[in-house]
Amino acid sequence: MTKLLFLGSGSAFTVGTDNFQSNIFIIKDTGEKLLIDCGSDLRFSLYDLGFSYQDLTDIYISHLHADHVGGLEYVGISTLFDPQCQTPNLYISQELVSELWETSLAGGMKSLQGKIASLNSYFNVYPIDQNRYFYWQNIKFELVRVIHIDNGFYLMPSYGLYFEIDGVKIFFTTDSQLCLDLHYQYYEKADLIFQDCEITIYPTTVHAHYTELVNLPAKFKQKMWLYGYQPTNLPDAKQDGFLGFVKKGQTFDLAITQQKVYLRKLN
Ligand SMILES: [Zn+2]
Repeated sequence: MTKLLFLGSGSAFTVGTDNFQSNIFIIKDTGEKLLIDCGSDLRFSLYDLGFSYQDLTDIYISHLHADHVGGLEYVGISTLFDPQCQTPNLYISQELVSELWETSLAGGMKSLQGKIASLNSYFNVYPIDQNRYFYWQNIKFELVRVIHIDNGFYLMPSYGLYFEIDGVKIFFTTDSQLCLDLHYQYYEKADLIFQDCEITIYPTTVHAHYTELVNLPAKFKQKMWLYGYQPTNLPDAKQDGFLGFVKKGQTFDLAITQQKVYLRKLN
């Protein structure tokens, strides 16, 4: 059965080795892996759990902050020069493709010996159009456009994911303000929600904050895991009605989750 594995569950600026940035593997029982986001911690978080860049065949990018794209230079160059590696597949909203290259990656990756490189020199790019879905291993991943930052001129979105594996419906918010009205249907229909959660006492306002999430209806909190948090003392999330804070290295076996969901629906 399929598993989710959190290489890290922390915020962008997580420090120390207790946690890493929130990058997540979906691992099929046949061994195929999809990496959700590829941050600058990846060189450490991968090896910490016994993986390497050679495990990176399929990568999804939600938005362009460095804790989500900062590892792509490492992955792109390492796989390019390793004859054992196939070119990794990169799934990303069409809206972000040129900006990813021009503003995040080209500075370090444009020049190869004897060649001007492009994003396609390193990755098989699958731009996701306005219909907002892609398939990996016959699983349909629906992109959910969430509000991350309003800079006063335009919105910087992130693209969360909604998908169903082994009968379990999963909503990953990725980095997002709390927009319950906008995304109510996903909170309603998901069996399991992985919710971005800031806990700092100095809120950035571009992430859902624990003090807001704690006021959500119990029916949402009881299927909600919190991640993307700062390295500080954690509130007692279980006491507050959540499933808990995801820890670094935590694995979710979806067969077991499916049984729990079934039992929850019976009650
Ligand atoms: Zn972000």
